Amino acid sequence: MEAQLQLYNSLSHQKEVFEPYHPPYVGMYVCGPTVYGDPHLGHARAAIVFDVLFRYLHHLGYKVRYVRNITDVGHLENDADEGEDKIEKKARLEQLEPMEIAHQYTVSYHLALEKLNTLTPSIEPTASGHIPEQIDVIEKILKKGYGYNNNGNLYFDLLKYAKDNSYGMLSGKVIGDLLNTSRELSGQEEKKNPVDFALWKHASKEHIMQWKSPWGDGFPGWHLECTAMSAKYLGLPFDIHGGGLDLMFPHHESEIAQSVIAFGQAPCKYWIHNNLITINGQKMSKSLGNFITLEELFSGNHNAISKAYDPMVLRFFILQAHYRSTIDFSDEALLAAEKGFYRLVQSYKLFSKLNTSEKSSIDIKKWIQGCYDVINDDLNTARLIAELFEGCRLINLLNDGKETITAEDLTLFSSSFTKFVSEILGLKMLEETQDNSKMDGLMQLLIEIRQQSRLNKDFATSDLIRDKLSEIGIQIKDTKEGAEWQII
Ligand code: ZN
Repeated sequence: MEAQLQLYNSLSHQKEVFEPYHPPYVGMYVCGPTVYGDPHLGHARAAIVFDVLFRYLHHLGYKVRYVRNITDVGHLENDADEGEDKIEKKARLEQLEPMEIAHQYTVSYHLALEKLNTLTPSIEPTASGHIPEQIDVIEKILKKGYGYNNNGNLYFDLLKYAKDNSYGMLSGKVIGDLLNTSRELSGQEEKKNPVDFALWKHASKEHIMQWKSPWGDGFPGWHLECTAMSAKYLGLPFDIHGGGLDLMFPHHESEIAQSVIAFGQAPCKYWIHNNLITINGQKMSKSLGNFITLEELFSGNHNAISKAYDPMVLRFFILQAHYRSTIDFSDEALLAAEKGFYRLVQSYKLFSKLNTSEKSSIDIKKWIQGCYDVINDDLNTARLIAELFEGCRLINLLNDGKETITAEDLTLFSSSFTKFVSEILGLKMLEETQDNSKMDGLMQLLIEIRQQSRLNKDFATSDLIRDKLSEIGIQIKDTKEGAEWQII
């Protein structure tokens, strides 16, 4: 019933049937965060998208080794190898050691991701823990003649690489254009060409993050860690390399160049990139003041939002878009997602109350097939959620006695619904979300007051409760077992 998964490969620029090199094993490497600040919406999207891919591959029976790195050294302020190390700068500003900064934000990243119900990767290596492996890659590149040393700063000769190999396969970037548009940046005069990128940076005495190397004390360039760690933990070539669209150039293009020279082969078969989140139509950035951390979102402590949001509402909101589309974040969009998610939870609760019949008037297997068809189509979670709402419509029709279902079909329906929502999309429904259980308590109180007023023949009050709730989209239905409520 599952049929074949197709994924869009950024390398071939088209959807391809997913066939791992060594089934049932799948090697997946995803670029993780640079840990120098609180986790934000961008982190949440990348983590959730690849969590769903990880979960779905598991569901299909694959044994997945999922490696997601932590960048704790080498990522400079500007991706064009300019400026200070991001973590070192933060450490200087906060008067802490870089390792204290890296640890603090690794912990906050993990805490936020746990709230978002993402599964832990199989291995989570750090850049600083893999210095010898990175030195080894540099030595291989030097030996092949594609690296040069200028006063203890080592660079990858990208111009030479592009002459001998095809460059820009993911991003479509052309070296000639890059040479014309690259600014001459300060500190770049050591490079033969502005497009060359750093493999190793010489560290001055006062620089805290430094290691010994054959070329003097220093630290590795940012692109190097992923090449070294993916090769170490997954072997080459591995199956899937993922990350945000913003990493495609220069980070992933540089990874390919390093791997081709150092190991004589491209790193992987499929490159998967998730698109980015905009805020009210604008790019999220600290300078625009529209930067929202996950903690601010979960606590409601930010001017751009009207309330605190449950992490499951954010997860649902992110999965409502296909991973290759942009998502525009706004308070209204999140309120709408909250309503949608609670509708799903409410319908799910009705499963235990449904009656069964001799015959089914609805085709459950067809509905299940529809769910598989859309998730297999390049992991289309947006369309899967639409199918789940179709499932909700069927649940409500069954609850209203307008359709019938056999006991066997009902078990299949309920277990498949749970499988898609909880196991594959990773949305927690069974465990009551905090807001939802408060809302349920409040609704039970209103229902009680309404029943009491009806007993007292105070129909004005009972009608007022029903009508006002209906105005805000909550319906109270009187059934044989008592009153029920649902979001409409
Ligand atoms: Zn990376």
